[in-house]
Amino acid sequence: MVQKKANISLKAYNSFGVDTTADLLVEWESVADLVEWMRTEGDTLTSKPWNILGGGCNTLFTGPYHGTLIHSVAKGITVVSDTPEEVIIRVEAGHLWDDVVAWSCERGLWGIENLSAIPSSAGASAVQNIGAYGVEAKDCIRSVEVLYVDTLELGTIAGCDCEFGYRHSIFKTSLAGKVIITAVNYRLSHTPAPKLGYGSIQEEVAKLGELTPQAIRTAITTIRNSKLPDPAVTGNAGSFFTNPILPREQVEALKELYPTMPTYEVEGRPECLKIATGWMIDQLGWKGRSMGRAGVHNKQALVLVNLGGATGEEVVALAERICAEVKEKFGVEIHPEVNIL
Ligand SMILES: Cc1cc2nc3c(=O)[nH]c(=O)nc-3n(C[C@H](O)[C@H](O)[C@H](O)COP(=O)(O)OP(=O)(O)OC[C@H]3O[C@@H](n4cnc5c(N)ncnc54)[C@H](O)[C@@H]3O)c2cc1C
Repeated sequence: MVQKKANISLKAYNSFGVDTTADLLVEWESVADLVEWMRTEGDTLTSKPWNILGGGCNTLFTGPYHGTLIHSVAKGITVVSDTPEEVIIRVEAGHLWDDVVAWSCERGLWGIENLSAIPSSAGASAVQNIGAYGVEAKDCIRSVEVLYVDTLELGTIAGCDCEFGYRHSIFKTSLAGKVIITAVNYRLSHTPAPKLGYGSIQEEVAKLGELTPQAIRTAITTIRNSKLPDPAVTGNAGSFFTNPILPREQVEALKELYPTMPTYEVEGRPECLKIATGWMIDQLGWKGRSMGRAGVHNKQALVLVNLGGATGEEVVALAERICAEVKEKFGVEIHPEVNIL
C-alpha cells in the first residue's frame, strides 16, 4: 500500500527548509504498490499538477504545492553480478545516494567514491547526473529502470541512451513527466582507479596514509564539510546555478576583460568552454551578502542559503537579482540548477 499524506508540511522534504505544504504526498515502497495506486487513483495525476520528489535537495518550493508529489521510500541494494571485471548493483530509487557510496567504499569497490556526501536519492542521481571532483553519475550508471506513467509498463533504459550531460539527462527533457524512476543499476569495479586530480583531494588523502576508496571518501567528505553549509543547519540546495558552457570565442573575449576568470574544458565539446558562475557572483561582491532572509553562502558564492524562515519566493527574488547583475556585468546568462516548483 502507498502512504497518502494530505495537506502535508514540506519542511522536512526540501533541503532549503522552506515551510510550505503539498495538497497530497504519495509515498511508495514497492513498484507493485505504486502501479496499483496509479491504476486505481491515477486520475489524481492527470486532473491536477503532479511531480516527483526525491530528497528535495535540488528542489525549491515557491509556495504551497497544489497537486500531488510522488515520493519513493523504496530502499535496497542488490548485487546483480560480481566478476573480476565489474560489480553490478541495483539500487531502489528511494535509497540515499550517500549510503550507496558508503556501501561501495566499505567493500573496497571503485567508481563512485568521488561522489561522496552528495545529498541525493538514487533516482535523482540519474535525473541530475550528479557530479563532483571529476566524476559524474553517468560514468557508472549502467541502466535506469522506469515505470511509464501513461501505460503503467515497466522498462529499462541503458545508460548510453539516457542522454547524460552536465547536470542533464533525458529525464529532464523528453521523458520528463513520462516516467518514474524505480531503480538504478550502477557499474562498480574491483580495479583501483583513483581520481585525485581535483581540488585538494590528493593532499587530504595523503594525510590518511592509504589510497583506498574509503580514504578518498573520507578525504572528500572532510573537504565538502569544510566548504558547504549543512542543510540541517542552514537551508540550501548546493549549487543554485549551473556553470554556463559558452562558445570558445566568447569565453576568450571575456578572458581579455577578466584575465583571472577560471575556465574549464568540456568533455566532447572542444568548441566550448565552461566558466564559473560562482566566480562571477563573487566578483559582484555577493559572497556572504543577503537580501531579506535569503543569502549567498560566505564560503561558496554558488550556494544560496535560507538564513532562517525564508520563503521560496525570497530565494527566487535573490536569484533573479544575481542573474540580472551577472548579465549586466559579464553579458552572460546564468540559469538555476535547482528545480523551482
Ligand atoms: C549541500 C548540498 C551539496 C550538493 N552538492 C552537489 C554536488 O556536489 N553535485 C551535484 O551534482 N549536486 C549537488 N547537490 C544537489 C543535489 O544533491 C542533487 O541535485 C541531487 O540529485 C538531488 O537529489 P534529491 O533526491 O534530493 O532530488 P530532488 O530535489 O527531490 O529531485 C531532483 C529532480 O529529480 C526528479 N526525481 C527525483 N526522484 C525521481 C524519480 N524517482 N523518478 C524521476 N524523477 C525523479 C525530481 O522530479 C526533480 O526534477 C547538492 C545539494 C546540497 C543540498
